[in-house]
Formats: sequence, structure tokens, C-alpha cells
Amino acid sequence: MLNLQEIHKPTTLADALKLLQQPNTIALAGGTQLLADKRRDVRAVVDLSALGLTYIREHEGAVAIGATTTLAMLAESPILRALANGVIAQAAHRSTSSILRHQATIGGTLIAEPAGILAVALVALDARVTIVGTDTRTMPLVEFLPARASLLRGALVTEITVPLTNPRATIESVARTPSDKPIVCVVAAARIENGVARAVRIALGGVSETAWRAHAAEQTLEGQSLDTARIEEAARVAARDVSPPGDFRGSAEYRKEMARVLLRRAVSALS
Ligand SMILES: Cc1cc2nc3c(=O)[nH]c(=O)nc-3n(C[C@H](O)[C@H](O)[C@H](O)COP(=O)(O)OP(=O)(O)OC[C@H]3O[C@@H](n4cnc5c(N)ncnc54)[C@H](O)[C@@H]3O)c2cc1C
Repeated sequence: MLNLQEIHKPTTLADALKLLQQPNTIALAGGTQLLADKRRDVRAVVDLSALGLTYIREHEGAVAIGATTTLAMLAESPILRALANGVIAQAAHRSTSSILRHQATIGGTLIAEPAGILAVALVALDARVTIVGTDTRTMPLVEFLPARASLLRGALVTEITVPLTNPRATIESVARTPSDKPIVCVVAAARIENGVARAVRIALGGVSETAWRAHAAEQTLEGQSLDTARIEEAARVAARDVSPPGDFRGSAEYRKEMARVLLRRAVSALS
């Protein structure tokens, strides 16, 4: 049972931050995690929906996405469908079921599902997060995810930006059903110049607490042609480096093997 006594709906960021200083008060975006968790300790929520943080626009060489933009908006956005082979739009679509996609926001999803497919796609595309509290700071999403609990004390995620470098990108996932969350997922991105891979980025989900960058596998491929033997080696290196958790969706051994298989498929599809 929820123990909610107050719902605030501020129209300015300053008011929202002030309200969040009160004890037992948390931010409310789509509210799907709050409803599912039924936290007894939460006495008040600060609804973020009137803060003007729902948008997807191109700005200063990046795509800027407001924190309260829903997964459905991401999945349907012409800007995101045209960026990096549409992997962010596809990741939003594969994140969860249709009903939840219309409710859940990008900010809430990155916080609630830091190893989920949306986080993975954004990490692979070098996304950055803007956090506003006593000051404003922008940092790489991959650094924000493991530190999010401490970074968000009295602060809010306001925006996610993705550079408009527009690499070639691919997405692979395995799930129990099409609307269930992926057990393991991989997003690979690179520029292919004269048959050689540059700026290789590979991120995986379902293999650690938060979206994970496969740095050693990236280095195996950087500046190389993507031939079968090299891709196989990169996949082997990534699988060697992960220590996935096991749960009812998939054992640790299954996840390790899927990391290898999906990485091989994702990188093969880049060329
Ligand atoms: C029935 C059900 C099925 C689900 N199935 C799946 C699934 O298949 N795959 C999957 O990946 N996930 C699944 N989820 C989880 C779901 O994806 C998350 O609950 C959802 O993405 C959270 O987004 P939200 O906008 O509703 O966040 P909320 O629930 O509103 O917030 C989540 C957390 O983030 C905080 N927060 C939100 N926005 C901000 C912000 N801008 N700044 C600071 N803090 C913020 C909130 O205070 C809260 O702690 C499921 C959830 C439910 C209830």
C-alpha cells in the first residue's frame, strides 16, 4: 500500500527542487516504478510533468531530450528514427509494453532500469546527462548510471543529449517475449571509413548492474576492417570480461554466452 499524503505539481525547476528538500519526498515522472514498488516511506511526490521537460529537438550539434519525454515519444520521433539507424527509437520500443511506453519517461527509465536497453543504446551513442541541483552539471551517462543515487540527492535529471555524429549503429537483444525486458542486449556503433571501423562503441545490458561499455572489444576493432576473425575475437574478449548476475530471466552462464553471440551479430551488421 502507498502512504501518499501530498502531490505537488510545480511549474518551475526552482520550486520543484525546493519541494524535494522536504523529508520523504521524491520525484514523480511516469510513476510506474512508484506504483510497482508501493513504497511506504514516500509521503509526498513532486510531479515533474509541468516543468516543460517534454521535448526532442536538435540543438548545438546534439539531439536534446527532456527528462519527462515518454518512451512512446522516443519510439515515434522522426529525429531519433533518423539518428544512428534509429537505435534509440528501437530501444525505447523494446524497453517495455505499449501501455508502459506511454507512461514511462526517459529520465525515470534510466534511473529505474540502468542496465536496460534504452540506457545501453544511449551509452553506445555517447549520451550525456544534465543534472540540476544546487548547481548544474552535465556528465557522460555511463558515469551517471552507477552514481545516480548519490548524484540525485536533492537534484533532478533535466535533459539527455546525444551528439549528432550519426554513426552507423546496430541493436541486438534476446528476451523471453517481444514485450518483456531483454535478458541481454548489445548496441554497437562506428563510422566505417574505407572499410575500416573508427570511433567504435559497444555497450551491453543485462550483464552488470548498469549499462556496460566493452572497452577491450572496442579496442580490438578500432581502426580495423571488420572481418569475421576479428569480430569473433572482439566477442570472445567481451564475454571473457563480463561477470553477469543470474536470475529467473537467464542464468549467468546464459547471459555470458548471449553477450558473445549478440555482440558478434551486432558488429557483423555494422559493415
Ligand atoms: C508492470 C510493470 C512492468 C514493467 N516491465 C518492464 C520491462 O519489461 N522492461 C523494463 O525495462 N522495465 C519495466 N518496468 C519498469 C519500468 O520501465 C520503469 O518503472 C519505468 O521505466 C520508470 O519510468 P517512470 O517515468 O515511470 O519513472 P518513475 O516511476 O516516475 O520514477 C522512477 C524513479 O526515478 C526517479 N525519477 C524519475 N524521473 C526523475 C528525474 N527527472 N530526475 C530525478 N529523479 C527522477 C523517481 O523519483 C523514482 O525514484 C516495468 C514496470 C512495471 C510497473
